Amino acid sequence: MEMDTIAAISTALGEGAIGIVRLSGEDAIAIADQMYRGKQSLEQVASHTIVYGFIEDPRTKERIEEAMVTVMRAPKTFTCEDVIEINCHGGIMSVNRVLQLALRLGARLADPGEFTKRAFLNGRIDLSQAEAVMDLIRAKTDRAMDVALHQVEGRLSKHIQALRQALLETVAHVEVNIDYPEYDAEEMTHDLLREKADYVKKEINKLLVTASQGKVLREGISTAIIGRPNVGKSSLMNSLVHDSKAIVTDIPGTTRDVIEEYVNVRGVPLRLIDTAGIRETEDIVERIGVERSRQVLKEADLILLVLNYGEELSKEDVALFEAIRNMNVIVIVNKTDIDQKIDLTEVKQLAEGRPVLTTSLLHDKGIDELEEAIASLFFEGNIDHDDMTYVSNTRHIALLEQAKGTIEDALGAIEMGVPIDLVQIDITRAWELLGEIIGDSVQESLIDQLFAQFCLGK
Ligand code: GDP
Ligand code: ZN
Repeated sequence: MEMDTIAAISTALGEGAIGIVRLSGEDAIAIADQMYRGKQSLEQVASHTIVYGFIEDPRTKERIEEAMVTVMRAPKTFTCEDVIEINCHGGIMSVNRVLQLALRLGARLADPGEFTKRAFLNGRIDLSQAEAVMDLIRAKTDRAMDVALHQVEGRLSKHIQALRQALLETVAHVEVNIDYPEYDAEEMTHDLLREKADYVKKEINKLLVTASQGKVLREGISTAIIGRPNVGKSSLMNSLVHDSKAIVTDIPGTTRDVIEEYVNVRGVPLRLIDTAGIRETEDIVERIGVERSRQVLKEADLILLVLNYGEELSKEDVALFEAIRNMNVIVIVNKTDIDQKIDLTEVKQLAEGRPVLTTSLLHDKGIDELEEAIASLFFEGNIDHDDMTYVSNTRHIALLEQAKGTIEDALGAIEMGVPIDLVQIDITRAWELLGEIIGDSVQESLIDQLFAQFCLGK
């Protein structure tokens, strides 16, 4: 496949101070060579080596950057094409200038996701792996990163391939029975077919069970901290943020008046929802009014309701309990360092079996227990994420649901004694649907749409 040379800034994950300009395509090495000054020409450098040198504007001879340049020749590269990575450390301005120079010398600015698209088109990765790269970019915590990484390694693909193989074998078996009766192959019976279909259905179910966790890992559990003014909501927010190992603040594009902060509580990413100016007076009820706070509550997956240990329960407290009926709630009775006025028995009644914890945030007491409660709420104590293949991609989930549906149709037909060659149609459809997850039968438009979602430079 003949493709032009593309270039983009490929931002390192995390807080990397180094910016990378990446080029891919036939002329990648030649273009980079025009602006590289080092001991030898890049054309002479062996594949997969890093050389030190300077980036210079060949027209003005102006030195732009001190750089480490990685040369990787096709086909053993991410895109299967010649790839150059120019590691700059002069901040975003000089990274930009290096990119501009590459564009002037003949490279084309890459579309979002185009590097990954090429990797896919050149057969380097399958579609679920390509999507995992996108999730990696967005991964909010280490654990979410893990899930995405496993997928890049092809865990989901292997799972899906095994299921497709099982389906394919049954279909082939039926075909042989019909088309070559003289072969005398073992007859595919309803029982045998049911057994296979049952197996695949169970496996799909297992994958779907992981889906809700996968989604949460990727997007964060939207969590609202609510309570009357002065009970300690800001303090709670601060404790969670400061205790958190990985804080990813500020998602580009959040221009709404609700601010979201990501905190990582024992591997569970919480998307703390609060109003603008969160560090001053951010009492949701107070600031944005009852109606808006009801809206925030509706969107939340988890509510942290804060009460004051040193005050009697008020009408407002009871109203808040009313507003969060049937939701995931952890009740936090704060300020245990002052004299007790609150009736804890009444609090527990109102909590209706949901966890009630006491804290003294002023003295950092009770935070561990709270984190424990959050983690066990999410992981239900026994999810071993290391051994799991999480399904976290909305498209994958939809396809798995559909495949499961057609398998169920097949099972229904088997029960009704429908002839096997008709049942087979559903089985084949399920096989196709699973194939779409790994990109075996996707249409061009879908591919374009998927890759357009990628960040630039990946
Ligand atoms: P918010 O209005 O609900 O956000 O409450 P803040 O977090 O702003 O806290 C209100 C006041 O209560 C501040 O002066 C805090 O220092 C204080 N406070 C927070 N937690 C505790 C606690 O555990 N014990 C005591 N005595 N004071 C606390
Ligand atoms: Zn506050």
